[in-house]
Amino acid sequence: MADKIPFTRNFECEYGKIYQFSPLIRRITVKNPGPFTFKGTNSYIIGRGEVAVIDPGPVDEAHIRALLQGLGDERISHIFLTHTHRDHSPGAARLKTISGAPTYAFGPHPVIKTAGPQLDDGGDKDFTPDFALKDGQEIAGSGWTLEAVHTPGHISNHLCFCLAEEKALFTGDHVMGWSTSVIAPPWGHMGDYFTALEKLLERDDDIYWPAHGGQVKRPKTLTRALIAHRRMREAAIVERLKAGDRSIADMVAQLYRDIDPRLVFAAGLSVQAHLEHLIEKGIAGYASVTQDEFILL
Ligand SMILES: [Zn+2]
Repeated sequence: MADKIPFTRNFECEYGKIYQFSPLIRRITVKNPGPFTFKGTNSYIIGRGEVAVIDPGPVDEAHIRALLQGLGDERISHIFLTHTHRDHSPGAARLKTISGAPTYAFGPHPVIKTAGPQLDDGGDKDFTPDFALKDGQEIAGSGWTLEAVHTPGHISNHLCFCLAEEKALFTGDHVMGWSTSVIAPPWGHMGDYFTALEKLLERDDDIYWPAHGGQVKRPKTLTRALIAHRRMREAAIVERLKAGDRSIADMVAQLYRDIDPRLVFAAGLSVQAHLEHLIEKGIAGYASVTQDEFILL
């Protein structure tokens, strides 16, 4: 399935180095590689002289030092966060202390009470933005304007940011050029994710700058492929339900052959997200009161 998505893993990144791509866009990548972060979290520097930073990343002193050294005499005036996962936002507090710049994001990490043991959701629960942004809100700095685009799905407080001067969209973890996004309930929501992907198709952004991996030069082609991929996955899950599979584990074993063992748990959550979406649409239902078995309606 995944081979139909035009992913690329070509990504030049020397840790500690600031790459300049356009008059207003620079990027420096945190050294936090992993199965979900690819080579690491991208921090973007927007503008010249008085700049904004999008996603300072985790607390990583070497990264913050490289960022500040690279900026030299330039001043950070704004700090933007795409969302509150720990690979994106904790560095904001450190950067705010040093620069005095306020933070801008949709809101704090969502609190969701789950039955059973509380999973570690990778959230930065200490973060509260100085300014909570709404969908469509614009923030202007010195020579740049960023528009908040609310894109829940990966997490309910996820924002993309559009740099108006370059029709460039900073897509965070919503759309990435190297891999699909993790949509893991209860923080992730497949229905919201589909809607937020469709929302990008209605825009006319020229390029995407994701929080992991390289820029996406044909953004709508990728977004359409991601939608098609999820629709295919959903159809495959309906087929597994038709075939008599009832548990998520059975479906994962059939649908995700040869995957990295570190990603099996995430695959299960993705299947769960699809099943919850099918339940919301009235296509599937729970087969047991414990809500761990599923049937077609
Ligand atoms: Zn994330």
